[in-house]
Amino acid sequence: MAETNVFVDAVARLERLGAEAGIAPEVIAALRDPRETLIASLPVRLDDGSRRYFPAFRCRYNNALGPTKGGIRFHPNVTLEEVQALALWMTIKCAVVGLPYGGAKGGVIVDPKVLSRLELERLSRAYMRAMANVIGPDLDIPAPDVYTNARIMGWMRDEYEAIHRIKAPGVITGKPIRLGGSLGREEATGRGAFLCIQELARVRDLDPAKTRIAIQGFGNAGYHVAHLLQEAGYRIVAVSDSQGAIYSEDGFDVDSLHQHKEATRKLQGVYCEGSVCQLVDHERISNDELLELDVEILIPAALEGVIGPWNVDRIQAPIIVEVANGPILGEVDAQLFERGKVIVPDVLANAGGVTVSYFEWVQNRAGYAWTLDEVRSRLAEVMKRAFGEVWELGAAEKAALRGAAYTVALRRIAEAIHAHGTREYFQGDTD
Ligand code: GLU
Repeated sequence: MAETNVFVDAVARLERLGAEAGIAPEVIAALRDPRETLIASLPVRLDDGSRRYFPAFRCRYNNALGPTKGGIRFHPNVTLEEVQALALWMTIKCAVVGLPYGGAKGGVIVDPKVLSRLELERLSRAYMRAMANVIGPDLDIPAPDVYTNARIMGWMRDEYEAIHRIKAPGVITGKPIRLGGSLGREEATGRGAFLCIQELARVRDLDPAKTRIAIQGFGNAGYHVAHLLQEAGYRIVAVSDSQGAIYSEDGFDVDSLHQHKEATRKLQGVYCEGSVCQLVDHERISNDELLELDVEILIPAALEGVIGPWNVDRIQAPIIVEVANGPILGEVDAQLFERGKVIVPDVLANAGGVTVSYFEWVQNRAGYAWTLDEVRSRLAEVMKRAFGEVWELGAAEKAALRGAAYTVALRRIAEAIHAHGTREYFQGDTD
């Protein structure tokens, strides 16, 4: 991603899209900086008896619409700026789909793949111990993100409850089912993106059989969207993970790729160390080459900042669905729009995850469990409505879908901020 500061880029995009949408400067000022960020150093005893300290963050970006919400990432490349950008995007995302939440994000600078299971548990609990005062079911509700999972959420819930001496199932989402998780949460990010693609196929008349798709990233979201797309008749011609990519013009059987990764993981520990590259029957390409493939739909589903000034000219796919958070830098938005690309932005395309997190939180608070069908049909309702609103606004204004999504979100946040009164109100100009 070269030298770009991802938070500076995210704020610049917010200011540009906010100004284009005519959002009041007071509202943009409220969103230019996070409300609070807690920075901690997590002491963790390693299995060899030594103690190590891991830098950790929790950024509560904005709470105008409700308690803050967003995942926790465990990754060696986590930075404060990245966590702040991700928390800003959560703020926009929750507002795009109309959830009663603000945005937040957390992160730990760690390579979880080299930790033992016991070390991972100690790290997860240490994170919650450090952050327990700023987290809570009515305050800030974490969830999984890159390299964190349901088991980690379960440990964190338990630690929070031990600290506060209460039962608080709604303190964190994405939990194991028996610890208060929701059916359908695991697949939710992928399913939400799939629903967006189906809606797009309807309005753009796409024929699944003639639609070749490349997916960068084969984690939870990448796998589920691939699985659902293949089931609906699309051809998945390229897939990658952090080790590299594979390409096959005939398309892959997504489930056997997934089984291979799962099997390798079982041999190697909590995290998958195997690579999709180990399936040798197909052409091996690099992650960069995957992004530049001549396909109908490109789905970046890994990390932020993979499309920027260095490769934007070589991106061929006419449709890009951002399943990752922030895969395209704001500085190349205009260029892609001028070239006629249709981009379903992250704040809409991957909002299925937080939407089902919201369903989980609602179920926890009500003490009631929904069926899988109920979760799926409510998710479909939310995603179709949000996609429709964004699509119609984009069409009406001849604007990019990202601009339309930010407009929908910023208007909702602005209404909440205005309800407390603005300069016009206090000066007596308006009611
Ligand atoms: N980490 C996910 C995201 O980026 C999910 C957040 C949540 O469920 O709170 O949207």
